[in-house]
Amino acid sequence: MKIESMPSLLPDETLYSLASRIAIINGISDCQAICETLFGKDKAPRVADIEVNLDKFNKVTRNSYGSNQQITNTTTIIPFLKSLGWGTTQNNEKINCELNANRKLSELSNAEPHKWKWCNDCIEADIEKYGFTYWHRSHQISGVFACIKHQATLYEVDIPFRDRQQHFIIPTTVKEYQAPHPCCVSNEEIKMASKLATFSIESLTNYKEIFDSSIFNTFIKHQLKMHQQLVNAGLKSSFSELLKQLPAAAKSSLPSNLNKFYSGIKPYNLQNRLLVVYWLFGSWQLVNEYYLWSEIFSAHLLDDLTNLKKSKEKNHYDICNEFLKHNKSSTRTSFWKTHPKSCKWLNENDSNWLEGLLPSNSKHPTYQLRLL
Ligand SMILES: [Zn+2]
Repeated sequence: MKIESMPSLLPDETLYSLASRIAIINGISDCQAICETLFGKDKAPRVADIEVNLDKFNKVTRNSYGSNQQITNTTTIIPFLKSLGWGTTQNNEKINCELNANRKLSELSNAEPHKWKWCNDCIEADIEKYGFTYWHRSHQISGVFACIKHQATLYEVDIPFRDRQQHFIIPTTVKEYQAPHPCCVSNEEIKMASKLATFSIESLTNYKEIFDSSIFNTFIKHQLKMHQQLVNAGLKSSFSELLKQLPAAAKSSLPSNLNKFYSGIKPYNLQNRLLVVYWLFGSWQLVNEYYLWSEIFSAHLLDDLTNLKKSKEKNHYDICNEFLKHNKSSTRTSFWKTHPKSCKWLNENDSNWLEGLLPSNSKHPTYQLRLL
């Protein structure tokens, strides 16, 4: 199948949305065929859950949407995942956040592939501007329950696997699957949700490329402990105060107390991870600064310890040489009596060297004396 027309990528559009529009603009109604043409390696059995091969996508679309890296950064939720040090799934399967990891189309476009969110005002504005609407990436990531542009609630539906794999779903047809429900029910909630959404959406652009999942987990747990100590000392806002600042939709997945939170920051629970980072830092810039600082600090600490160890080791040899310089006829026993630590260390770590200078059998003259 040849793709003739390539629609322009719209602001904040997901890869799933772009694929659906490529199908529409080229008049292709066979969704499986278009997915297979755009992304598939072999025969595509599904639509939303097809594994994405960006090399193939770029070849078919004649590089109309930039490099693999640009497509990943602008149309997928990978930057969001990276911002949270995403590494493993619930099944402990390693997630490759890099390019061409053959992740599924809906996984790349929606933080939770069964949840689809939109803003009614955005739909209206899109239709007015373009004549149609599309899926906005920033609405699909975790922790986003309000549209920050319109200060309005997002609406959400859960689309089961069997429905979402048959054909492309677009915001104007999504209501056919299930009655949508608003994420926020009051203005006060929209206000709180907008603040959280601003933080979540910032993660798409302001994340640190080198976040390592395991280091990040340790870092967050450490920060959580420090924070708790500060809370105990009455200095910072407590866990219950965090709960007061969140819309109900964000609270639903949260554990009821902080102790449970420690075990709750599982790598696959994106929303909880996001909330804990939101609570601890409030801005990505601060996350990056703290993370960098802790990285430097632990690297320095490690360097210092290594250097300290090395200098101590060097010292044992010097001590022994110095001792022999002034006590040419000495024995192992006399060295042991005057410098037990160095004697012990050299015996354990470099016994041949020590044996050459100070043989363990003290009745024999030392190596140096034998030379004389
Ligand atoms: Zn909106």
